[in-house]
Amino acid sequence: MSKVTTQREGNVLVVTLDNPPVNAFSTEVRNAMAAAIADAATDDAIEAVVIRAEGRMFSGGADITEFGSAPVHPTLPELIDAIEDLPKPVVIALNGTALGGGCEIALGCNYRIAVPGAKIGLPEVKIGILPGAGGTQRLPRVVGVEEALPIIVTGNPVSAQKAQEIGLVDRIVAPEALRDEAIAFAREMAGRAEHPVSSRRTDRIGDYDANVFNTFRAEHGRRLKGLDAPAKCIEAVELATRLPYDEGIAKEREFFMELVNGDQSRALRHVFFAERQAGKIDGVGKDVLPLPIRKVGVIGAGTMGGGIAMNFLTAGYDVVMVERQQDALDRGTAIMRKNYEATARKGRMTAEQVEAAMGRLTPVLDMAALADCDLVIEAVFELMAIKKDVFGQLDAICKPEAILASNTSYLDVNAIAACTSRPEQVLGLHFFSPANIMRLLEVVRGDATSPEVLATAMDLARKIGKVAVVSGVCHGFIGNRMLGARQDQANALLMEGALPAQVDQVLLGFGFPMGPFQMADLAGLDIGWDPDTTSSATVREVLCEQGRRGQKAGGGFYDYGADRQRTPSEAANAVIRDFAARSGNEKREITDDEIRERLLYPMVNEGALILEEGVAQRAGDIDTVWVNGYGWPPHTGGPMFWADTIGLDKVLAGLERHAARMPDVHVSQLLRDKAASGGRFNG
Ligand code: NAD
Repeated sequence: MSKVTTQREGNVLVVTLDNPPVNAFSTEVRNAMAAAIADAATDDAIEAVVIRAEGRMFSGGADITEFGSAPVHPTLPELIDAIEDLPKPVVIALNGTALGGGCEIALGCNYRIAVPGAKIGLPEVKIGILPGAGGTQRLPRVVGVEEALPIIVTGNPVSAQKAQEIGLVDRIVAPEALRDEAIAFAREMAGRAEHPVSSRRTDRIGDYDANVFNTFRAEHGRRLKGLDAPAKCIEAVELATRLPYDEGIAKEREFFMELVNGDQSRALRHVFFAERQAGKIDGVGKDVLPLPIRKVGVIGAGTMGGGIAMNFLTAGYDVVMVERQQDALDRGTAIMRKNYEATARKGRMTAEQVEAAMGRLTPVLDMAALADCDLVIEAVFELMAIKKDVFGQLDAICKPEAILASNTSYLDVNAIAACTSRPEQVLGLHFFSPANIMRLLEVVRGDATSPEVLATAMDLARKIGKVAVVSGVCHGFIGNRMLGARQDQANALLMEGALPAQVDQVLLGFGFPMGPFQMADLAGLDIGWDPDTTSSATVREVLCEQGRRGQKAGGGFYDYGADRQRTPSEAANAVIRDFAARSGNEKREITDDEIRERLLYPMVNEGALILEEGVAQRAGDIDTVWVNGYGWPPHTGGPMFWADTIGLDKVLAGLERHAARMPDVHVSQLLRDKAASGGRFNG
């Protein structure tokens, strides 16, 4: 089947793109389209052209697998120029989302019509590049600078309605009428002598507030700090206002090449592919079909249970939520409602959708109500004895084919599975807090977990919008185990003379949204702290004893004002200095470089151990966990990709240099081998 077909409808040539799954503009597609446009140019019977697509979306854009290889003609910019240069009107019919090259093709057409559900955008910045097929120069000429900037710099698409408001789309048409309307529109335009040509338009480009670029930089400064692509995007749009089109395009190309060959774009592309790769499970082929899941049970309506339940309610599943006591159940349900209502206030849900979601929830006190659930997720206290008791009961109550999952953060999923008569149907589903928002889901594969159950978990994750990564069983799985390696060093650094603000600042500088001590304050220092058995043995315990239990208490490692802003705390620092003095360490000045190496190299090493032990299937899975669950800055690609980038020999040398201060860090053989051979973790 040809990926581009043409049909003649009287004087209109209809060019149809059909390249599933996302109608990418691969070499074959570009060739065929260019040929169709050339035919239209020479055929006097053709007076107008319609470009349309089959499938649910118009196009996801360029074929990203062709990145990095030598350009093949016609390139996308050449194809778009050919469309624009055709002296006959071209109407593009957007049957759905048009992203990247899909949007740039649309910009090269004279007229654009779209279905109401279409989204149009230039997401290139999200993989560290800029639109390289004229997008930065044509879009501002079509919609004006103020509207073009956010589309290009944030990479977020606009709806068809918004596109019409700003002049990016001429008409909105019902999906079933799209083809016919496009042909009629093209025929109507064929009679006109002049057509808008995006690259030659001057009507929108000159009219903007001179401060718009500085204002935009100031507004987005914090989010874009240290990122190459957004800065170049802004610069490219600015040049569109100052340079003739041809010169602007040359600059766009130059910026594109610079970015595409840079470390940040390489890292972001790795993140993009690693996320997709993570969905593939070793030993579970495509022939293993997911089991049907209609009704989901959640045990525990606490911090995690409520958020977990919301994922399924939002996606349309019926959920039974079990608690031990009515007040805990009421509290949990009320928080869920409050969260939904907040989402509705932001315009991301309608009031009816809130009611429909809450209407699918059955809050109960009796576990017997779980009998007909297809999947039950346990989110009770993190204590093995309680988990074992719950799983024993579930095994007796739930139908034999039901899947039983634990949201445990650290505990042994095999030991939990062993309390049931169906260990092959038991696994870990480790959500991250807040569970209704965080994208990551660690799917913990027990020794006995069946391929069908794993395939079901991955399928469900997709349906509720999560990025799933498979982990084997170990203490803390992939994410928390590596977090532990970092936290050990953060604590040790305090004992050697560093203070929380210095440690946190180094990670903020690296690109994390927060450092370990800010994170501890946010979560609450009293997690797992028992006032009855406290022994003043750790900094954390003493802070809790002093009432410094974190941000919620107005103080923890930091002091917090009414605005929740943190300032270094003399009281907390005094506790730290007191412990440090008694630790036997000689107090010393610690450089930021040492802090960075001490925090991040042991994480990479732990990741290497995780790979070596087969707990993670691949290095990219570890990167996916850290980027999606722990705020690792995506433009460095995740811990393993970052290590590859700086060089594994450098990481190993750093670990060896600090070895005397890190007696508990056992250096991975895999890391040693790869460092010696000049290898990488990620292919
Ligand atoms: P939580 O204390 O907020 O909630 C636990 C809830 O379970 C409580 O409401 C409690 O009443 C209820 N419960 C206890 N035993 C029960 C039983 N037998 N039947 C029914 N309900 C029962 O705890 P949480 O933070 O939601 O953590 C729950 C689980 O999720 C733990 O295993 C934890 O390790 C894990 N987890 C927590 C986080 C987090 O950031 N809080 C993140 C990932 C995983």
